[in-house]
Amino acid sequence: MKYKIVRSSRKTLGLEVREEEIIIRAPERASIKEIDNFVRSHRDWIEKKLKKLEEQRKQAQEPLTDEELNALVSAAKEYIPGRVAHYAPIVGVRYGRVTIRKQHTRWGSCSAKRNLSFNCLLMLTPPEVIDSVVVHELCHLKEMNHSRRFYHEVIKAYPEYRKWDKWLRENGRAIMMRNK
Ligand SMILES: [Zn+2]
Repeated sequence: MKYKIVRSSRKTLGLEVREEEIIIRAPERASIKEIDNFVRSHRDWIEKKLKKLEEQRKQAQEPLTDEELNALVSAAKEYIPGRVAHYAPIVGVRYGRVTIRKQHTRWGSCSAKRNLSFNCLLMLTPPEVIDSVVVHELCHLKEMNHSRRFYHEVIKAYPEYRKWDKWLRENGRAIMMRNK
């Protein structure tokens, strides 16, 4: 792991992760070995931070063109129905049609006729997020609310749900905003 050392009159070691570089702020007399150990012990944290910066950078991109949006719709039509078919028996429900939409506010929805629809922008999220949204909507075919019983069903079918739902809450808005 490469990093830049900036020495000053400070008393303790400090760490700053930027997109282009990792900066270690160090006291004048800190040894290289000391600094190196410090970096090593923060390795996981640094990597997590770099990944997060990378994700933010990707999502702060230009608005999607019509062409790009249409490509996402096609990709979603190829991919998402298969995920729905995979999870429906796990959740234990039957469903109607699966449609893909270009939506600005929702990731997925379901109707009284048991039809499901999903936002094509899901294709810009990790596959685990797509699965979490698919399971969420399928569980609404059992429980038309966000009660404890509903989340119990969701987590039974997809134990990692909370992690990926959190990802979507943290990163979803930036992705939605690319659909102008
Ligand atoms: Zn819901």
